[in-house]
Amino acid sequence: MPTIISDHQVFTPRNLAEALQFMAQHRDEGWRPLAGGSEVMTHIYDNRAAATGWINLAPLRDQLAGIHEDGILEDGIQEGCIHEGGWVRIGALTTLTELRRSAVLQTICPLIRRAAAATGGVQRQNRATVGGRIVSASPAGETLPVWLALDAEVELSSRDATRCVAYRQFIQEPRQTAIASDELLTAIMIPIRARPNPRLLFRKVASRAAGAIGKMVFTAIAGLDAAGHYQDVRLAFGGMGPLPLRACGAEQLAEGHAPSDALGAQAANQLSAELTPVDDLRSTADYRLRTARNLTRAFVAGHIGIAGHIGEQPS
Ligand SMILES: Cc1cc2nc3c(=O)[nH]c(=O)nc-3n(C[C@H](O)[C@H](O)[C@H](O)COP(=O)(O)OP(=O)(O)OC[C@H]3O[C@@H](n4cnc5c(N)ncnc54)[C@H](O)[C@@H]3O)c2cc1C
Repeated sequence: MPTIISDHQVFTPRNLAEALQFMAQHRDEGWRPLAGGSEVMTHIYDNRAAATGWINLAPLRDQLAGIHEDGILEDGIQEGCIHEGGWVRIGALTTLTELRRSAVLQTICPLIRRAAAATGGVQRQNRATVGGRIVSASPAGETLPVWLALDAEVELSSRDATRCVAYRQFIQEPRQTAIASDELLTAIMIPIRARPNPRLLFRKVASRAAGAIGKMVFTAIAGLDAAGHYQDVRLAFGGMGPLPLRACGAEQLAEGHAPSDALGAQAANQLSAELTPVDDLRSTADYRLRTARNLTRAFVAGHIGIAGHIGEQPS
């Protein structure tokens, strides 16, 4: 029989300090955070939510929602002003709708906005938070390969300490991360790295344009130096293995070379050795791999992708 939230214990802290104090005192007793609830509520309904009770994060929005770039306010950003070495800090309770609408992200990394817009339907984007998506750690989330491609770090806070962990190391197994039971994910940090003439791509392949979980997701970022050679290439995938992953071998093949059809074909061939998609109800392994190869070939050859920012060097 389905359960509802009022059948469960809920603790509502007044602020972050109170939440972390509660988590320290009840460490390992099975209390879990409740953010947008878009995933938790379905688990509660299906009786799949193994928790003693829920820590309601809604009152923490003032502290844990919002997007900040070092010293530049959301409405004061100017193109060309983005400084190398800085960070964009996205609070864990920022919703996908807020990502989609952010002027800071449009200037610094439009890929994040595209990934947020491709996630579920509008109602889900209004509820689902950046932190909830990262901690639930499914292999297919649209935003997850973007964090990988951007070398993002997650900020984890407990009552006694705050630590930052590379997103790449944070995800350990499907639905398992390096978060401790007394920690909250408080932010995701995006390093601003200057790439000359950056080219960007975000592509979700699904059976419908909206409201469908992706068969696969592909994110690519690369700079082109003054000689027209690739620099700092990132090719990241979702739905192509048990975790979101980067195709580091294909990245290295492209690095230092000019875009060409031959280079695109080499990078695409390399993927067979790096990606391990499976057959499941959404797609076959063969279709996923062919799609990944086609997108990689076209991107590395220079046929698809948009000119972008991500700390673009002012000319
Ligand atoms: C019908 C349906 C369709 C969906 N479609 C998509 C889709 O297209 N793409 C996609 O990516 N996802 C999809 N999802 C999954 C879900 O919407 C996302 O995982 C969402 O981002 C979760 O965010 P939330 O804030 O709602 O998290 P919640 O449901 O509140 O929490 C999710 C998990 O994260 C933990 N958690 C939340 N916040 C924190 C925090 N700050 N620190 C530590 N732990 C935390 C919770 O304890 C819980 O384990 C779908 C889900 C459903 C039910």
